[in-house]
Amino acid sequence: MSAGCVHVVGAGVAGLSAAVRLAEQGERVVLHEAAKAAGGRCRSYHDTTLGLTIDNGNHLLLAGNRAAMAYLRLVGGLGALEDPDEAVFDFADLASGERWQLRPNAGRLPWWIFVASRRVPGTTFRDYLAPLSIMRAKTGQTIGEVMRCEGALWRRLWQPVLLAALNTEPEISAASLAAPVLRETLGAGGRACRPLVATGGLSAAFVDPALTYLAQHGGQLRLGTRLRALETAEDRVQALHFAEGDVVVGPDDAVILAVPPPVASGLLPGLTIPGEFRGILNAHFRIAPPAGQPLLLGLVGGTSEWLFAYPDRLSVTISAGDRFFDDSRESLAERIWREVAAVTGLDPGALPPWQIVKERRATFAATPEETARRPPCATAYRNLALAGDWVDTGLPATIEGAIRSGEAAVHMLQRGDSRAMRSVSRVCL
Ligand SMILES: Cc1cc2nc3c(=O)[nH]c(=O)nc-3n(C[C@H](O)[C@H](O)[C@H](O)COP(=O)(O)OP(=O)(O)OC[C@H]3O[C@@H](n4cnc5c(N)ncnc54)[C@H](O)[C@@H]3O)c2cc1C
Repeated sequence: MSAGCVHVVGAGVAGLSAAVRLAEQGERVVLHEAAKAAGGRCRSYHDTTLGLTIDNGNHLLLAGNRAAMAYLRLVGGLGALEDPDEAVFDFADLASGERWQLRPNAGRLPWWIFVASRRVPGTTFRDYLAPLSIMRAKTGQTIGEVMRCEGALWRRLWQPVLLAALNTEPEISAASLAAPVLRETLGAGGRACRPLVATGGLSAAFVDPALTYLAQHGGQLRLGTRLRALETAEDRVQALHFAEGDVVVGPDDAVILAVPPPVASGLLPGLTIPGEFRGILNAHFRIAPPAGQPLLLGLVGGTSEWLFAYPDRLSVTISAGDRFFDDSRESLAERIWREVAAVTGLDPGALPPWQIVKERRATFAATPEETARRPPCATAYRNLALAGDWVDTGLPATIEGAIRSGEAAVHMLQRGDSRAMRSVSRVCL
């Protein structure tokens, strides 16, 4: 592959991850992106209603997301994330008004579960062992089949955390997708749970530094170039058809397709892809957070789920938010603002300038059925690999999964052998 050029199609986090790894290794890379800006579902943009640069959705990364951390370190984006010294999670119950902090200790031995002041109120240390059944679950089992989905700790910790990680109702989600998330974060100790938030915007952390890195390493970025078709011959891709013109894929060239699943299946008929999705709803309010407001506040017992306090706005995330997508934007803004006001002490009657962002296809549904439909990175064509959070990484659709998929696609092409790729993924992912 080293003599040729690699065409990466799609400049979301998966495509960026593949492109920067290739550039790091001295490969020639051309990154093609249909939109006018890179970043895909993980990007910032200027919202004219608010007069602010906001993200398409609030994103949370945990320090245990090791591929994401390595990517950020490589491109120089780590400094754009707020990284606390220790993992402290503030929570509020909107129904009862109670507040608490969850404080896992730094090391792997979880002695914090024996300390009442570090736990969720109304729980015992035994409640924290319940997710062990997720680790032991068989392929195809849901969380609801292996774990009791009720009780104080379910409602106040496992449900909100698993919902945020899977963006699907946890009861019907695949236990196999929850297991690596729990193992690599809570199971790895408090240091791995440090919540990292891009207070300066997602693009400043994940996108802009990657594009700079790519340019510095000779990579090319072509924005506004939508791939319309792939031309194949026997076991190779030999041309890419863009609206703007065709690109010949030479004998030593390769292609990484890092586009969303419906686009990939349109380009590669017969490809099995996840077909069911979940949305995410974000509400942004242009108001400075009150002094002392935690950067991240978990909310239970209401509509809002996570409240992010950015310097210039308060933003709420609601995962698997499809049930609210038919509600009017005005009613959503008012309802969510009342909850935000209740936990911040701000005036519930003084609704600040707001924006509601509905991402309808935020992620594939993390059910066992959809999980079984995820294809591997390898394709029937030896110079074509797939990347994206929907490819079979073993992780849910997250930044971490997208970044690992990009790296796995690079490995696959470098080994030039799809079987090798599968073993690489097992080791790397
Ligand atoms: C609102 C929201 C909140 C989220 N919150 C979190 C979170 O807190 N933590 C977390 O880890 N993850 C979160 N995620 C998930 C995370 O954003 C995704 O997993 C990740 O961004 C997916 O990256 P990707 O590169 O696989 O796909 P995408 O970002 O979809 O990238 C695909 C790219 O391909 C381009 N493209 C499409 N068609 C073509 C074509 N024909 N030719 C060329 N280019 C094309 C698209 O424009 C896009 O840029 C969230 C997602 C959303 C939507």
